[in-house]
Amino acid sequence: MIPISKVVITEEQEQLVLEVLRSGNIAQGPMVAKLEEIASKKIGVGNSIAVNNGTTSLIASLKSLDLQPGDQVITSPFTFAASLNAIIDAGAVALFADINEEDFGMNHSSLSENLTNNTRVVMPVHLYGQMCDMESISHIASKNDLRILEDSAQAFGASQNGVMAGTRDIGSFSFYATKNITTGEGGLITTNDNSLAEKIRTIRNQGMKKKYEYEIAGNNYRLTDIQAALGIPQINNYDLNVERRSNNANLLTQGLEDLPGIVLPKVQPGRTHVWHQYTIRVTSESPISRNELAEHLTRAGVGTGIYYPKMVFDYEIYNSHPQVKSSENPIAKKISSEVLSLPVHPHLSLSDLEKIIETVRDIVLKK
Ligand SMILES: *Cc1c(COP(=O)(O)O)cnc(C)c1O
Repeated sequence: MIPISKVVITEEQEQLVLEVLRSGNIAQGPMVAKLEEIASKKIGVGNSIAVNNGTTSLIASLKSLDLQPGDQVITSPFTFAASLNAIIDAGAVALFADINEEDFGMNHSSLSENLTNNTRVVMPVHLYGQMCDMESISHIASKNDLRILEDSAQAFGASQNGVMAGTRDIGSFSFYATKNITTGEGGLITTNDNSLAEKIRTIRNQGMKKKYEYEIAGNNYRLTDIQAALGIPQINNYDLNVERRSNNANLLTQGLEDLPGIVLPKVQPGRTHVWHQYTIRVTSESPISRNELAEHLTRAGVGTGIYYPKMVFDYEIYNSHPQVKSSENPIAKKISSEVLSLPVHPHLSLSDLEKIIETVRDIVLKK
């Protein structure tokens, strides 16, 4: 089976983890500080705050903004449940702006249409490793006095016209096992707002700046040095990881270009793609349905993923939830029935890529 994602631990990572284990300081300490320092350098941002996962990084970010009951956050309907759950956990109300077909990211006109007097935050989601059109979104945010929280869980290192994901206001990243950089579980918040960064650090540590002096009702969102030791070499070697992903994506595109009804992912002008996922669309013009193609691929030993099969709020538990204001999002709804991710991770061999291409071609063309 060619898996949709694969974790490979290097000797350098093993050594660094061993160093932490032998140091006796296994909770948050100097390794976390080091991880934050190199992440800030890599992204080009003033502050990085490491936390225990990509969901708490969204929650801590939202909590730092002092949202009041009834305050609204506009996010994407085409995302992982974490984006929505974080808004609910932070006590805000979630609204949804539809997406673009081309980049799977928030559509700025739909954002404008969904603004109300209670909108405080816009939370675009950079899906699959490519950023949303942050220039249009930021323009609307600044005109309407909104904070921006970029859910960049899938887009570490991506950029638009030289502006990196997570640097416009607040950025949130995930280091979960399947993400481009992983510490098993882990997350990171980025911002150039120094006082906000200070506040997020305080929230991360039970609301304390000094021991037992509580300034805010916080939580324990800390990452450990063991986890940070896993992450540091990956950040240092990240360009190579992305280069491999990008080469794999190019090969997949060359091999699948001419298939009827299949739309391949495209890098938008001015943007860079870090290829967290290589996601094709199996449209109504395809001779085979998305689900059939996925089943055939699994049987042939090619792992696939459907991110995401439904709009994030389209589950019974959210139907009458007081903090979820769902809306018609026709593009997101259609796209969720079309997407299929193929393996693109850096540990694919040439023969893996050939097998993926040949198998998809056979299934689509012989149908
Ligand atoms: C992975 C992910 C998260 C949550 O990150 P965890 O580390 O799993 O908590 C949030 N948003 C998106 C878009 C993600 O892909």
